[in-house]
Amino acid sequence: MNSKKKLHIETYGCQMNFSDSEIVMSVLADTYEYTSDIKSADLILINTCSIRDNAEARIWNRLREVRSLKKRNKSLKIGIIGCMAERLKEEWLEKEPSIDLVVGPDAYRDLPKLLQTVADGENAINTILSEEETYADILPVRYNSNGISAFISIMRGCQNFCSYCVVPYTRGKERSRDPKSIVNEAQQLFNDGYREITLLGQNVNSFLWNENEEEVHFWDLMAMVAKINPLLRIRFATSHPKDLSNELIQIITRFPNICKSIHLPVQSGSNNMLKKMNRKYTREWYLDRIAEIKKQIPDCSLSTDIIAGFCDETEQDHQDTLNMMREVGYEAAFMFKYSTRPGTLAHTKFEDNVPEDLKIKRLQEIINLQQELSLISNKKDLGKTMEVMIEGFSKRSKEHQFGRNSQNKVTVFPKTNLEKGTYVQVKITECSAATLKGFVVE
Ligand code: SF4
Repeated sequence: MNSKKKLHIETYGCQMNFSDSEIVMSVLADTYEYTSDIKSADLILINTCSIRDNAEARIWNRLREVRSLKKRNKSLKIGIIGCMAERLKEEWLEKEPSIDLVVGPDAYRDLPKLLQTVADGENAINTILSEEETYADILPVRYNSNGISAFISIMRGCQNFCSYCVVPYTRGKERSRDPKSIVNEAQQLFNDGYREITLLGQNVNSFLWNENEEEVHFWDLMAMVAKINPLLRIRFATSHPKDLSNELIQIITRFPNICKSIHLPVQSGSNNMLKKMNRKYTREWYLDRIAEIKKQIPDCSLSTDIIAGFCDETEQDHQDTLNMMREVGYEAAFMFKYSTRPGTLAHTKFEDNVPEDLKIKRLQEIINLQQELSLISNKKDLGKTMEVMIEGFSKRSKEHQFGRNSQNKVTVFPKTNLEKGTYVQVKITECSAATLKGFVVE
């Protein structure tokens, strides 16, 4: 029996990319098996991200390291997949002689055929975007999983065309996946011992499936998945504030196993910037959504994405962002300085005119404020007892286990003899901006 070839996948960027790498592993499962040892690989695939300059710079650096492996192993094949493959297309094969294969996010089904072309000694490329592809019938191979938490991609693409964003160009039009295939995958995961799933999409709130004049909206899908089993925790990412519905907020209140944490990227607190970013909502609309969440789900944690130094951003715009952060009181945030992305509206129409040192200064102010807000939020949890799902042993001490509560807060406690995936009640006694600490109460 021919033994399988060795495939080493490296994944960069967002959760969608990690979910895609599991799809890729499944598409190639007949001929390849995963190896974490890059030196023993027959094929190396780098799943790339194009969201910011430094994301792409990381890939070029990594490629410089990887290409030397070809000197030692002449039959080694290297492929670039994901958003940067889609953005640069043939340029890869022109610019980078060590690359044999370039595959965009919608062309992973074509991998076996493309690899045959490479085996025949030619380069291969497929970066055609699709309006239908959702890989609904492909069961991901969770080759790098902790066995209890998993991503399920429920839709692909985005057409919101925020002026700074490259995603609509690298991932194509929005399309939702058949809800039956999503519920089946979630049920299978639960049967396999998984106890937490994250429903993934660029903008999950606009999930919509039509069949026989029957519409399945995101909140319907959330209820369908939550009904699988009360022991299966449900998380979701990423939401667009313009589509955050009251129906979804209601569903989150109805199911205890839907986690009380919402990631709602705001990007800026200034209406001028929100308009220029083409975010399609105002500061007032956003704060109204936040008020509704806080009214209906008082213990809900809120996290966000913020861009510092977008084109024409004034000091007042920046202050509006800081005020927005204080008003919401975010538990956590992903914070970046603006970097122009080729091909986007901002790249062609606006000037990237906020000086680099000012971008860095404003970003630092945002990071410092978020540190304060995270600590304020965690201090409010002192003395409370919270349900935590055990995820494993703390990186810092084998005498401690860790997990996250429904609010997605990392919680550390003295180890138990309980295995990961088990729910425990933890009394919170200490905290930092990043972590809650406590002990398990029976
Ligand atoms: S919603 Fe905007 S920022 Fe998010 S992926 Fe779509 S275009 Fe990009």
